[in-house]
Amino acid sequence: MAFFQEMGADFVLGRGKKPPVPSGSTSEAMGTAERVPAPEPRVTAAPASALTPQVSFAELEKKVLSCRLCPLSSSRTQAVPGEGDKKAEIVFVGEAPGRDEDAAGRPFVGRAGQLLTKIIEAMTWKREEVYITNVVKCRPPDNRTPLPAEVEKCSPYLVRQIELIRPRVIVTLGKVATDFFIPGRMSMTERRGKFVVHQGIRIMPTFHPSYVIRNEGNKDIKKMVWKDMQLVMEFLGKK
Ligand code: URA
Repeated sequence: MAFFQEMGADFVLGRGKKPPVPSGSTSEAMGTAERVPAPEPRVTAAPASALTPQVSFAELEKKVLSCRLCPLSSSRTQAVPGEGDKKAEIVFVGEAPGRDEDAAGRPFVGRAGQLLTKIIEAMTWKREEVYITNVVKCRPPDNRTPLPAEVEKCSPYLVRQIELIRPRVIVTLGKVATDFFIPGRMSMTERRGKFVVHQGIRIMPTFHPSYVIRNEGNKDIKKMVWKDMQLVMEFLGKK
């Protein structure tokens, strides 16, 4: 919990002073400051060829586990569909499984996952009350960034997961996840902290936990993540 205490998040635990709502709050984002969803929404633009539109969650997970649509299936130990509450109001989307996730068959269980779990708990959810998944369901060799072709092949799975869950908010962790829903050239620093409404779902881009860990000494990055999460909490009535 030290991570959030450092940035003045004691109030989440019922201790300390409640910090002011950061600028760019939800109400602002609801008004003219809000970026209007792109006319051609990204979720439906993603190819859905690998799945029938009616596929259930159980079928989808089976398809992911046996998927052979791209070369990552040859190097993976196991595919990682995602986990959590399939009726969650919030979904966290990362990039792709890493070594620990590939071994466990579960998303975000390594160091970045431990940090993500802390973030979720500081937001007053239990990990199992949210849904956690990745853009790409198999580990890229040496944890490299997934190739555009791999993202494209895998995208119907995430599209269908979102269709089935219909969350109120999706938190995109890092550039790959953010680009999936909101393609753009801007840096994460420019994109984070502002809701973008997409197909009726609010997308909140923020930094990837691995990036936070890599820049552990930089308190500003942690503060920005926490500000972003406060906006999400405010929108979902968590504060
Ligand atoms: N990084 C990710 O993007 N996803 C995981 O599941 C683990 C690490």
